[in-house]
Amino acid sequence: MESFHYSKVATVNDALAGIASSGAKFVAGGTTLIDLMKLYVERPTAIVDINSLPLDRIESQPDGSLKIGALVRNSDLAHHDLVRKSYPVLSQALLSGASPQLRNMATTGGNLLQRTRCYYFRDVNYPCNKRQPGSGCSAIGAYNRIHAVLGGSENCIATHPSDMAVAMMAIGAAIHISSAKNSRIVPIVQFYLLPGDTPNIETVLKPGEIITHVTLPALPSNARSFYLKRRDRASYEFALASAAVIVETDGRKIHRAQIALGGVATIPWRAPAAEQALAGHQADEQTFRDAADAALRGAKLHKYNGFKVELAKRTLIRALQTVTA
Ligand SMILES: Cc1cc2nc3c(=O)[nH]c(=O)nc-3n(C[C@H](O)[C@H](O)[C@H](O)COP(=O)(O)OP(=O)(O)OC[C@H]3O[C@@H](n4cnc5c(N)ncnc54)[C@H](O)[C@@H]3O)c2cc1C
Ligand code: SF4
Repeated sequence: MESFHYSKVATVNDALAGIASSGAKFVAGGTTLIDLMKLYVERPTAIVDINSLPLDRIESQPDGSLKIGALVRNSDLAHHDLVRKSYPVLSQALLSGASPQLRNMATTGGNLLQRTRCYYFRDVNYPCNKRQPGSGCSAIGAYNRIHAVLGGSENCIATHPSDMAVAMMAIGAAIHISSAKNSRIVPIVQFYLLPGDTPNIETVLKPGEIITHVTLPALPSNARSFYLKRRDRASYEFALASAAVIVETDGRKIHRAQIALGGVATIPWRAPAAEQALAGHQADEQTFRDAADAALRGAKLHKYNGFKVELAKRTLIRALQTVTA
């Protein structure tokens, strides 16, 4: 590893001052950043350790929303009473990720910003537009079994690896961001950017900004939610396909649905076409199949990842069967 300047900060203002220098990076749990530094994929000139910032609380708000500090650990979030009771989809998504040890370190902010597991991105011997803009994509036309069928471009087809972000996408979370000059709130549907011509730019977060917290809107009391993840082995593995579903029913009729997919797209993938195919229809096999077809419409297959289309459909159908049973 190359040398870098390290500082530990205790206030958001100090964190923002520390990140002002070009090439500086925050470190929270370090489970993405330090790995990538060891691989020479990330090469920050300075590390600003934010673990002492007072952003580690989970608080219910007067309007019924839930405020989650950026430094809340994935384990604490998954096991929090309010999350288990009101947002089971989020608790299940978090517990399906990584390992207990990793979840004890990983934070809410770091999880949102974790980077792709594309093997070519993580190996500096291969060209990669995300790591080195303009160098080419080693996955398109090569071995691309874990790659995206939705949201890709001719420059990048890497999947976003987070489970937590998929659940937050279905819930409709808001990301709270601060800079030295101001603060802003970005709905999660606007937070992630499709790769297009600039796969190296993954979110709307700008240099010099910090995520301070995330808020989750209250879900209707009759909403039921569920997260289902399909992967090559039962634990300690990223999704090949996953579905986060939130469904409100009136008897066997679906009143409203919020759907997001993971493992198949370049960003945590909200599926409005599937939501429309569900709303106002009976909770039955035909409706679920129609929703799954709608969610995967427009999928672009590559040589080794075509199986993901049917896998994602079956994952969504099984999640809908479970949540409406
Ligand atoms: C072996 C292994 C298996 C895994 N399996 C899964 C899995 O199955 N599912 C899954 O979802 N994840 C999985 N992960 C990924 C893991 O969830 C992430 O590494 C973790 O959530 C990142 O959080 P962190 O706090 O450690 O981030 P860090 O590594 O500290 O930071 C990640 C990035 O976010 C930036 N950052 C951190 N906090 C902030 C902030 N508040 N504001 C602005 N920028 C910030 C950092 O500068 C850095 O660029 C796995 C990881 C490993 C190593
Ligand atoms: S898919 Fe994206 S991350 Fe992977 S090699 Fe291509 S450009 Fe790089």
